[in-house]
Amino acid sequence: MNASLSTVSYIAATILFILSLGGLSNPETARRGNLFGMIGMALAVVATVFGPRVTPAGYAWIIGALVVGGAVGLIAAKKVQMTQMPELVALMHSLVGLAACLVGFASYIDTSTVFPTPAEKSIHEMEIYIGILIGAVTFSGSIVAFLKLSGKVGGKPLLLPGRHWLNLAGLLIVIWFGRVFLQAGTHEAGMLPLIIMTVIALLFGVHMVMAIGGADMPVVVSMLNSYSGWAAAATGFMLSNDLLIVVGALVGSSGAILSYIMCRAMNRNFLSVIAGGFGTGGGTVTKGDASQPEGEVSPISAAETAELLREARSVIIVPGYGMAVAQAQHTVFEITRLLRDKGVNVRFGIHPVAGRMPGHMNVLLAEAKVPYDIVMEMDEINEDFPKTDVVMVIGANDIVNPAAQEDPGSPIAGMPVLEVWKAKTSIVMKRSMASGYAGVDNPLFYKDNNRMLFGDAKKMLDEVLGALKS
Ligand code: NDP
Repeated sequence: MNASLSTVSYIAATILFILSLGGLSNPETARRGNLFGMIGMALAVVATVFGPRVTPAGYAWIIGALVVGGAVGLIAAKKVQMTQMPELVALMHSLVGLAACLVGFASYIDTSTVFPTPAEKSIHEMEIYIGILIGAVTFSGSIVAFLKLSGKVGGKPLLLPGRHWLNLAGLLIVIWFGRVFLQAGTHEAGMLPLIIMTVIALLFGVHMVMAIGGADMPVVVSMLNSYSGWAAAATGFMLSNDLLIVVGALVGSSGAILSYIMCRAMNRNFLSVIAGGFGTGGGTVTKGDASQPEGEVSPISAAETAELLREARSVIIVPGYGMAVAQAQHTVFEITRLLRDKGVNVRFGIHPVAGRMPGHMNVLLAEAKVPYDIVMEMDEINEDFPKTDVVMVIGANDIVNPAAQEDPGSPIAGMPVLEVWKAKTSIVMKRSMASGYAGVDNPLFYKDNNRMLFGDAKKMLDEVLGALKS
């Protein structure tokens, strides 16, 4: 493939990626968006492999890497449960970071490129330094995010004394060694500052994500998404690959926008997130057991739940992480259809951080073929709870916790929540009294108008469906 054909393919791939992102912004066009993304990526790979910069001697390596990488990706995609998707995404982000580091070191070691001027050499070295920096932070941060999301590391924030000062000192050392690196005359002399910076960046990534409290993880996931984009863009600069720069910038900026949306959804300050000082509401360690709610809970049976639903005129379903665990979305849809056929107004209330990844609930409901027009965002539906007869909370906890509004000392204080307790009756479906991801008790369970339907969400909903049908 000659250079101009390769450029045209890159432009086509870029357009497809932009169309893909546009499509993904709406559930109705998301499938098409995915398809555009896949075609764009296939085109990008073909144009790169057969492009002017790969010599036939490299084909064996590339094909080997494609087979190994493709097989690992295929197996992972086939094996992964829907509930493990966020962990998989975090792991993928870590690979982008690792790739940026490896490409950075390889470009530095590679002495075959001749730079016409010293300025161009310095610019290339700066790209390497910054690329490895972003890559290393993304790599180690994403690994810790993976460990946290998969429960291998606890969700409690690790707050080292003077952590902001530690971060600042790390930044200053990185800048200092950047200067040493750029001034090093030889590759041998430049290697040490490069390695020191990489170690500091790796430690910073670990420190940054370890310091995040459970409830703030969504922000971290989207931030790392953004970082992985910038790492890819940095790799593009190091390899002088325009497509990688553009795609990296697209991912980086869309991830940054998502982070902003997540921050707003959780009422966190975007700037303090950027500075890495987030997750603890201004530096105090989150106390999971602050002001324990008191009282008695009122359990309800599946048959009684069906009875309440049958008598209701309006119902709002609030799904959460537990619905994903139980894979209850199909039964939820069956119940929705049945109730709608009986003339009940059924709608869904989706919190922006419900589940374990952005859009988690929308994906599950789309999979179960729930019509998009009854799936409402939090802002659209929060006002309607007082006019609602029954709210079914399915495996959700933090996103319906009134402590966010009522208890200023709560770790989730200030986070907007779905105000389900304002409905005539709320029914919470979960297996026990255990807390959610943020580790905070939920006073909703003790409210007079709340009932608890204990059990696995799928099992209980099957029983409710059976009772509704009989
Ligand atoms: P939560 O984690 O707050 O609560 C989920 C509840 O589901 C648990 O209390 C659990 O209770 C219940 N549950 C688990 N399995 C089942 C089952 N099989 N059947 C029935 N219930 C079950 O989830 P939410 O969706 O309410 O809130 C999301 C939380 O995750 C927030 O704190 C958010 O910050 C965080 N988060 C979100 C991310 C995102 O991008 N959306 C990313 C990372 C974190 P029990 O064990 O008693 O059944």
